[in-house]
Amino acid sequence: MDTGIVIVGASLAGAKAAEALRAEGYRGPVTLVGDEAERPYERPPLSKGYLLGKEEKEKVYVHPADWYEQHGVELRLGAAATAIDPAGHTVTLEGGERLPFSKLLLATGSAPRALPVPGGDGDFVRTLRRLGDSEQLRAAFRPGARVVVVGAGWIGLEAAAAARTAGAEVTVLEAAELPLLRVLGREAARVFADLHRAHGVDLRFGVKVEELRADGVRLGDGSTVPADVLLVGVGIAPNTALAENAGLTVDNGVRTDQHLATSHPDVFAAGDVANAFHPLFGKPIRVEHWANALNQPAVAAASMLGKAAVYDRVPYFFTDQYDLGMEYTGYAEPGGYDRVVFRGDVAGREFIAFWLSGGKVLAGMNVNVWDVTDPIRELVRSGRAVDAERLADPAVPLDEL
Ligand SMILES: Cc1cc2nc3c(=O)[nH]c(=O)nc-3n(C[C@H](O)[C@H](O)[C@H](O)COP(=O)(O)OP(=O)(O)OC[C@H]3O[C@@H](n4cnc5c(N)ncnc54)[C@H](O)[C@@H]3O)c2cc1C
Repeated sequence: MDTGIVIVGASLAGAKAAEALRAEGYRGPVTLVGDEAERPYERPPLSKGYLLGKEEKEKVYVHPADWYEQHGVELRLGAAATAIDPAGHTVTLEGGERLPFSKLLLATGSAPRALPVPGGDGDFVRTLRRLGDSEQLRAAFRPGARVVVVGAGWIGLEAAAAARTAGAEVTVLEAAELPLLRVLGREAARVFADLHRAHGVDLRFGVKVEELRADGVRLGDGSTVPADVLLVGVGIAPNTALAENAGLTVDNGVRTDQHLATSHPDVFAAGDVANAFHPLFGKPIRVEHWANALNQPAVAAASMLGKAAVYDRVPYFFTDQYDLGMEYTGYAEPGGYDRVVFRGDVAGREFIAFWLSGGKVLAGMNVNVWDVTDPIRELVRSGRAVDAERLADPAVPLDEL
């Protein structure tokens, strides 16, 4: 007997999975369980248009409010799942209610990491993950406010750009010697450092944060950086507790095969929480990107319905900071490439950077250059070796390499 499909995590991946189940023609019960009060919404605007006050709230939601009822999807908001029992096929909610399932999708996403220093868990420390976080920061980013951002990753830099745009005095503190060094490598990371400096952000690298306090950040050299607003953006951790406690295989996220099935055949995972075997790379990868949470659910839904489906998309990511727009296509791990090739005007911030290994393109990042993700994706997917000189030459069309 089909007792229905339960999806835990009512954000982009969860909502897209519900949509895909109905699109696949599934008519059984679908329950979408989420611990947030808001119906599923997309997070990228929270550090960009919505944070800047340029985007309306209604635009951030994945579906219109009446979509769930219209599609027979039971939306259980403000409901945290506290346990899953794969063998018994039940999900337990806070309060003790048990939901039966035939198949379960874990779309629990990830949560900001705390800084492991005194004050790291203080109530004056802000993070940026949820709609409410974005709204509070937007109110706090005022002309003259002293905003200190710990962590020069994507979230930290986007928030710094929004704060600066709002007229705040912004300091970014980073332990490494450049922003985004781990993801981009030295050459491309410099572009983002230059961008923020050009906009008047006080960027400090190689900094050791000793303590977070309500009035500022104490550094390793004994000095204090005063703060009216203190935002910590030092990465995220996948929400794996349910899977771990249920005995599923967890290793940097919930491990799945290429069909997004976990180590239990009736439990699947998608989005930020999934460390999914990727056929193109021949190993599991966990991708913390919007496009992954958007596209994996269709494969998870088909797999849950017993159809043959494989997730093998090339990872894709984007960011917007001030007047810089960027798309990153591919997957280049720190230390996994031996060369970076630039095509275009790096100083003018209008270029494409390619990460290569053995002459093969692992990833490409187009900065203020548009409509090139298809040929970049094709270069990455093909795995063919390219001539670096031709790759660097803007006169050579990418699809002729
Ligand atoms: C501010 C911000 C900006 C971003 N910008 C970009 C960008 O520019 N480009 C890009 O590619 N990506 C961006 N991302 C990343 C992108 O938003 C994520 O990859 C995406 O949200 C992942 O979706 P998800 O559904 O897998 O997980 P999440 O969005 O994390 O959602 C998981 C949901 O499950 C809920 N949940 C967890 N545990 C339980 C439980 N036990 N019971 C019930 N509910 C539970 C959580 O509260 C949450 O609502 C950004 C993220 C943030 C926070």
